[in-house]
Amino acid sequence: MWKHGQDDFRDSFSSNKTWSLIRDPRENVAWYCVNWFPQGVPRFAIFAWLAIKDRLSTGARIRNWGLMQPCLFCGEPVETRDHLYFACPYTYTVWIEVVGNLFGDAPDPDWETTLERITARETGRLSAILLRLAFQVAIYYIWIKRNNRRHNHISKPASQLCREIDKTKRNRILSTKYYESPKLYGLMQCWFSTRGAIIV
Ligand SMILES: [Zn+2]
Repeated sequence: MWKHGQDDFRDSFSSNKTWSLIRDPRENVAWYCVNWFPQGVPRFAIFAWLAIKDRLSTGARIRNWGLMQPCLFCGEPVETRDHLYFACPYTYTVWIEVVGNLFGDAPDPDWETTLERITARETGRLSAILLRLAFQVAIYYIWIKRNNRRHNHISKPASQLCREIDKTKRNRILSTKYYESPKLYGLMQCWFSTRGAIIV
């Protein structure tokens, strides 16, 4: 017999019920919906999750191992999560382009403010989806480009990075089949109307 709950034993095994029984449940964090949402991409969400938890191996974190790593985009002596997202002049330039006017005004370079504003969902439903998508795609690509500079010494201008992020977002929006879904209908149009002046 398999346990499905308190005093609930059945013939069938349920990995869902078993996992719920053996884990230590905790309150949902406020930023849960920022990172995990149906239109998100797991590959990007993992990196956004690491960034939110400040677990990316930034210069500030690897300093504990005796390694010095300044910002590879601007030379700032201490490369922290908050600097990379988006206090750095290079990444802030990318963020401005990627986010367009989804916030309704210029994005704040401060990490905590950015996360709070996206969590608060100040915008409409479609804009909120696009904002969360922009957030996780930008985090992923900035981290990949940062690693390319560190390990392969490949540097690319911010405009090229913007185009890559833009293309990825467009592909993801298309793959949602927004035009068949009443809840997502108008997603692409909303994106066109709120994005920055990016040439593709
Ligand atoms: Zn920098």
